[in-house]
Amino acid sequence: MAQEKYLPPIARIAEDCVNCGICVQECAFLEEKGSPKHLAEEWLAGRGGGFPFECNLCGLCRGVCPDDLDPSAMILAMRRELVARGEGDLRQHRTLRAYEKRGTSSLFSWFYLPENCKTIFFPGCALPGSRPHVFTSLFQLLQELLPDLGLVFDCCTNPSHDLGNEAHFKKTFGELCDILLRHSVQKVLVACPSCYRLFEEHGAGLRVGMIYEELGQAGRIFRQERRQVTVHDPCGVRFSGKVQDSVREILRQSGLEVREMAHSRATSFCCGEGGAAGFLRPDFSRVWTDKRVAEASAMQVVSYCAGCTSSRDRRAGSAHLLELLLNPESALEGGAKVSKAPFTYWNRYRLKKRLQRQLQGGVCGSRQELSGKKVS
Ligand code: SF4
Ligand code: SF4
Repeated sequence: MAQEKYLPPIARIAEDCVNCGICVQECAFLEEKGSPKHLAEEWLAGRGGGFPFECNLCGLCRGVCPDDLDPSAMILAMRRELVARGEGDLRQHRTLRAYEKRGTSSLFSWFYLPENCKTIFFPGCALPGSRPHVFTSLFQLLQELLPDLGLVFDCCTNPSHDLGNEAHFKKTFGELCDILLRHSVQKVLVACPSCYRLFEEHGAGLRVGMIYEELGQAGRIFRQERRQVTVHDPCGVRFSGKVQDSVREILRQSGLEVREMAHSRATSFCCGEGGAAGFLRPDFSRVWTDKRVAEASAMQVVSYCAGCTSSRDRRAGSAHLLELLLNPESALEGGAKVSKAPFTYWNRYRLKKRLQRQLQGGVCGSRQELSGKKVS
């Protein structure tokens, strides 16, 4: 039987889903496993298995449901229950867990909180690792716009959140928020949609904004030649209209014409990377990527998530909005320089070391130093 703590999102689907099939038509995972109502009833009857780790947790099912139900929240509750039962520690996720652990370690984490710092830039793991040159130009620009801006290299622990390790996520993300609040930070500016979602949902009173709102408001737009592009909205912000609008506004002001795909905003397709499902079912991930590529047709896709952009880069031309703004020539011609692991770790380490030398004053240190833990 399902444990009481995880019951509400599962029971809601069991009671209220009318099996209309709309979400099932959109999703290869549901097509194979059955409707959300079927999955909920099976789980409540004690017949649930390991299938929750095969869902991309993308939220498209919620985006298309006419009754505003959220099957992705049900799947996350099931993952959490599996972890609580000791059945969620899958060997396929070891690499991802190690990636997160390194991100929060004293080797990679670093806080720079200058005097009077009320806002920090939290670039996440993917952007500085894959595009250190973009990160550097962006941070310089943000410093010009916000003179007392702080900087935090750390991991938002999205992998623990999505893998259902609720206890670890709450402890680790809570520690990050505690450090910021203790040093009077009020606002976190992020570059990654997953970081945005976590600060928005669990940020303990910290305000969160995406850099695009800041860049647009400050009029820091870079003119492009007139050209048609389409926008891929990442899952982390599929319900954040404000962020989606700010991205389109920057593109329009830059001189680009935005054409919408049939699946955009709340009904955007997953890039295939979501929910770590690809570690177990790469075939499901490929279906999402195929659908996105087919719908974009020959149009240049612009995204604003480093993970999404890399995922589609393997299959089709895709540009990161920041590349487009900061290095327009190479981005539009598909020549943007993007590092892959293990070089991503080296890039993050080098950036941290360089900025440690450049940025002085205020409060500086790793997560371990600022949370009072001993650094080994
Ligand atoms: S893969 Fe996406 S659309 Fe399919 S059930 Fe999971 S969250 Fe919903
Ligand atoms: S769209 Fe909503 S009501 Fe229809 S099957 Fe999916 S969850 Fe159930």
